[in-house]
Amino acid sequence: MVGAGLAGGRTVVELREQGYAGQITLVGAEEHLPYDRPPLSKAVLTGRTDNTQLPYGLDELDGVELLLGQPATGLEPGTVHTTAGPVNYDGLVIASGSAPIRLPGSDNQRLLRTIDEARALRETLRPGLRLVIVGAGWIGAEVATVAAKLGAEVTVVEGASHPLLPLGPAVGGHAVSWYAEAGVTLRLDAMVDKIGEDGLLLRGGEFLPADEIVVGVGVRPDVGWLGGTLLVEGGVVADEHLLASWAGDVAGAAGSPPVVAVGDCSAWWSARYDQRMHVEHWDAAQSAPAVAASTLLGLAAGTPVAELPTYNPVPYFWSEQFGRMVQFAGLPAQGDELVFRGDPTAQRTPEMKKAPGWSAGWFAADGTLSALVTVVRPIDMVAGRRLLASDTKPDQAQFADVSVPLKSLLPE
Ligand SMILES: Cc1cc2nc3c(=O)[nH]c(=O)nc-3n(C[C@H](O)[C@H](O)[C@H](O)COP(=O)(O)OP(=O)(O)OC[C@H]3O[C@@H](n4cnc5c(N)ncnc54)[C@H](O)[C@@H]3O)c2cc1C
Repeated sequence: MVGAGLAGGRTVVELREQGYAGQITLVGAEEHLPYDRPPLSKAVLTGRTDNTQLPYGLDELDGVELLLGQPATGLEPGTVHTTAGPVNYDGLVIASGSAPIRLPGSDNQRLLRTIDEARALRETLRPGLRLVIVGAGWIGAEVATVAAKLGAEVTVVEGASHPLLPLGPAVGGHAVSWYAEAGVTLRLDAMVDKIGEDGLLLRGGEFLPADEIVVGVGVRPDVGWLGGTLLVEGGVVADEHLLASWAGDVAGAAGSPPVVAVGDCSAWWSARYDQRMHVEHWDAAQSAPAVAASTLLGLAAGTPVAELPTYNPVPYFWSEQFGRMVQFAGLPAQGDELVFRGDPTAQRTPEMKKAPGWSAGWFAADGTLSALVTVVRPIDMVAGRRLLASDTKPDQAQFADVSVPLKSLLPE
């Protein structure tokens, strides 16, 4: 197992739960046992918790050889090379996750991927701190939420014309007012040219002074260590059983032990969407390991590939920002019709205990619901995920009517 994050840790547990009693080696670049990352930009930053270790402690990992703080450095068929030496394998799990993108210029930029980075950032957050966050995506919005609450003067710089880029302007545009409501300055259409020692330089020449800079502009699969041995297209290319493919010119690859790829680093073939999928969400790192473990154990037991289970989820993620639980599921396509459910322009007033909720669905031309976003309406997401998984064609007028529970639109 290369990568001791959620996907790696979860695969260890799945292998054991599915009856594998043999040797497992967990190779991790970090010194830590597997831990959860979503709380890093939420409860860890607020100080509500300092420990996000997954329930795979030393007991669950009993019998697992731990090579923590010993990254994998290379791969050849049957052997992973690590800083602790070579490790031979009969089955390999690639779970090395993703690494955040840095911006050019000074090293005076904080990234938020590890618990050590979250703890270090937390130490800096104080009233009056001039904090500039680059990127109004999930991480940027969550850090802005906490920092503003703690009294920092927060500016978020975003190159696009709206926050929440993957959701498009018609949905993301409604998040603009959330920043103002929290007292956060949002600079849209503002590209950063370079990070400096005491601020950042915007395209066009403006200099934005900052005491601290957090960069949240996305991640890339952490697969450089593979050195081109496996095929990589936006992630380690894997089939619907999560089996990875060797690059054409790797000696000894034919007939070598199987390799699977799970979590943020995987780009698997989705039969549901008839395309390669690559997501960087907790839910995928949590759910793919069951299939990866079955694939490895099935092959070891002589199961034909065609009879192995397939990984075929509807992608899902959530974010907690500006007092709102934002959840998203599915895969919208160009040309889908967007239908709102509730009023996305409703503003929160000081008397309101919670922010007003709304949802929006993307409908394909044939009437199928292809994706759903919910804002402070978790109940819509519970039914919505079932609607998405069942390829239902819900009536759009009923969908738009908040008095109609989404679960009533599910097939009998
Ligand atoms: C701050 C933060 C907040 C998030 N919030 C949410 C959220 O609210 N909702 C949501 O859906 N998702 C969220 N995510 C995303 C979610 O945490 C990831 O999708 C998930 O962690 C992916 O798990 P993984 O095991 O595939 O990868 P990772 O968690 O990245 O773990 C991979 C591990 O592999 C290690 N590694 C890398 N290279 C090597 C190597 N060569 N050798 C050995 N080990 C190596 C890495 O150090 C790392 O420990 C958040 C992520 C972050 C960083």
